Amino acid sequence: MRIGVIGAGQLGRMLALAGYPLALQFRFLDASEDSPGGQVGPIITGAFDDPASLERLAAAVDLVTYEFENVPVRALQQVATTRPCLPPVEALRVSQDRLLEKQLFGDLGIPTPPFRAVDSLGGLRTAVAEIGLPCVLKTRRLGYDGKGQRYLRKASDVQPAWQALGAAPLILEGFIAFEREVSIVGARSTRGEVRAYPLVENMHRDGILRVSRAPLRHASLQKAAERHLRRVLDHFDYAGILTIEFFVRRGRLIANEMAPRVHNSGHWTIEGAATSQFENHLRAILGLPLGDTRPVGHCAMVNFIGALPPRDKVLAIPGAHYHDYGKAPRPGRKIGHCTLVAATATERERLLRRLLRLLPR
Ligand code: AMP
Repeated sequence: MRIGVIGAGQLGRMLALAGYPLALQFRFLDASEDSPGGQVGPIITGAFDDPASLERLAAAVDLVTYEFENVPVRALQQVATTRPCLPPVEALRVSQDRLLEKQLFGDLGIPTPPFRAVDSLGGLRTAVAEIGLPCVLKTRRLGYDGKGQRYLRKASDVQPAWQALGAAPLILEGFIAFEREVSIVGARSTRGEVRAYPLVENMHRDGILRVSRAPLRHASLQKAAERHLRRVLDHFDYAGILTIEFFVRRGRLIANEMAPRVHNSGHWTIEGAATSQFENHLRAILGLPLGDTRPVGHCAMVNFIGALPPRDKVLAIPGAHYHDYGKAPRPGRKIGHCTLVAATATERERLLRRLLRLLPR
């Protein structure tokens, strides 16, 4: 069986690595032929919206999935006319637009920050007056890792923020003074089976995920997150892995965004859970029984951003698993990660401090 993956980044590479034991083969579509996926499967080089390249991919595989959120919806719709394409295109369409995403959360009874659509400077002023300061102005589309955002702290921030972002459709959100950020990663199969991983606590810097810790053991938050996850999964008649990111404020979850794909905050599952998110994504889209999502220890995942720490020193840490994506280092670019698996949370913290000291500054 051949799986086509739109996007050949590290997520595509990790999908393929999880799929080989299941006798799956992979073909990627990516603009660049030296993307990480190319280390583990052939890449059809072409733009994500190039009809000829999409046709070549569809013709070469039995089923298509994607590892990249900004795939044009029309491209996926084209592929879906000839091959099953999962997760559903509709989930991708909604997740590409922060406004549609927040409206859906609201419709499903999932709490969000207060938000308003913004299309003019006058509209922004009105929205700021309604939501109050501080607040966050974001582009509705194509924002990730904190790009396309401005924090508004005082009235004089409004005009410059509009000047910086106003060319695109925007959303204004109330600023949530959160205690922590968490995410839930879960799978739904084409047969409707659902399994969720334990909550993960995520630490970002400059809008980029730096460290995840799992499992976050918190029974009531876990229950609420699973309830929210299941509502979104069922709404889309979803198949594959879906991730929802939340803020935690006064013991309550407030949804920030969702990703209809395997997710950076789920990388710890490769070595830290009974079944990885990548294997469960494949099982889900193929209609196979989903695997056990229980953790096998106390895990921390550290992203390598812009530079790699010395591999020999990292591997000398007990329970460390080193992933080098084979990407050219550039400031702000995710080029690898490490997962630590420890017997206790205290031990994990000790190992994590040792790992963080090895990161190049
Ligand atoms: P996003 O690109 O929407 O995931 O935002 C990136 C990061 O910015 C989040 O992980 C938060 O740390 C922060 N952030 C985004 N939206 C808000 C908000 N409404 N209130 C407080 N912090 C936010």
